[in-house]
Amino acid sequence: MLAYFAYTMACFAYRKPSPSIYIKCMYNAKAYSAASASSPLASTTITRRDPTENDVQIEILYCGICHSDLHQVRNEWKDVMPTVYPCVPGHEIVGRVTKVGSAVSKFKPNDLAAVGCMVDSDRTCPECRAGLEQFCPNFTLTYNFPDKHLGGVTYGGYSDSVVVDERFVLHVPSNLSLAGTAPLLCAGITTYSPMRHWRVEKGKKVAVVGLGGLGHMGVKIAHALGAHVVVFTTSPNKKDDALHLGADEVVISKNADEMQKHAGSFDFILDAVSADHDVNAYINLLRRDGNLTLVGAPEKPFPVSAFGLIMGRRSLSGSPIGGIAETQEMLDFCGQHDITADVEIIPIQKVNEAYERLLKSDVKYRFSIDMASLRSK
Ligand code: NAP
Ligand code: ZN
Repeated sequence: MLAYFAYTMACFAYRKPSPSIYIKCMYNAKAYSAASASSPLASTTITRRDPTENDVQIEILYCGICHSDLHQVRNEWKDVMPTVYPCVPGHEIVGRVTKVGSAVSKFKPNDLAAVGCMVDSDRTCPECRAGLEQFCPNFTLTYNFPDKHLGGVTYGGYSDSVVVDERFVLHVPSNLSLAGTAPLLCAGITTYSPMRHWRVEKGKKVAVVGLGGLGHMGVKIAHALGAHVVVFTTSPNKKDDALHLGADEVVISKNADEMQKHAGSFDFILDAVSADHDVNAYINLLRRDGNLTLVGAPEKPFPVSAFGLIMGRRSLSGSPIGGIAETQEMLDFCGQHDITADVEIIPIQKVNEAYERLLKSDVKYRFSIDMASLRSK
């Protein structure tokens, strides 16, 4: 009891959560972590809980590299989501079940399984009851969030295994490549969810801004939903790829004349840009009542012209990932339409190089880490 009290006080002192369940059963897992905002990711050992009765233990086979991992590792979101170090990123996880708790009913050992950006929520709030766990005020993100079981923060998928409550574990369609499926768990759902919400379908004109990990999934999904898809990119060398991915047209966004040709014409624009850019130039491309949804999360706030929105009753909104049921729906949709991310598979030892390339938009179109490289070390 004294030890528990001391631990709770220590958690408080370091602004860490006190554990709601005091778990003694833990094991060591291999991982890659960053020690500070300026440190490279490096090999480490972390502690995971042994599966409790509702948990699934997963051997991680692939983990995608999301630009959010880079933002978080480098503490670029310090004003809204400061990074706690050491930080083990990774929320695009696909693997194989190795162990299940006694009350688990959806999974058994050897099943394929996937985990995205959330590993828990309070399950009782109106958002959770509506199946919108991504808006739960008490959700637990897969990394850098208070860990209810062990204290400290959660550790993500740049690791050889993970333990997650079965309610936050997804089934993987059997026809999809695993390396290309991993990025669906963030890039896929983050683009699918707002497109469903804003009713992207046949007959709608849709723009995807920024052909990166999220953007290229947005193109594939909007195309599969039947929309007319226009890609806006700063990278002229991505033009052919964009068409191949399913775009009907491609605009090099640095060309003002090309941009102007689309003025006032879009029903929906998905902005998946990771850095500073002029969002007003895109708001002007919306038709009456059109919507621009930001999924990209650049470090700095940017100005928005009131008149751009007022004229045409246009709206500007944002969207975070998606709920658990919708994430499963997205995976099933991708299974039916044979959609996976275009990936460059890398060993974990190349993760720091991959981050530098991500900053130069030099990836086609998602890095997927082969976690066998971590186990073989
Ligand atoms: P990414 O692969 O790096 O793609 C970002 C793309 O943005 C680049 O490929 C590039 O596309 C464009 N871009 C980069 N710098 C630019 C600049 N200075 N000006 C204009 N365009 C630029 O990143 P990602 O993993 O897709 O993530 C994109 C953003 O979404 C990140 O901020 C990430 O944190 C955020 N995100 C949000 C959620 C959510 O729930 N809302 C979920 C996941 C990620 P072109 O070469 O085609 O121009
Ligand atoms: Zn992500």
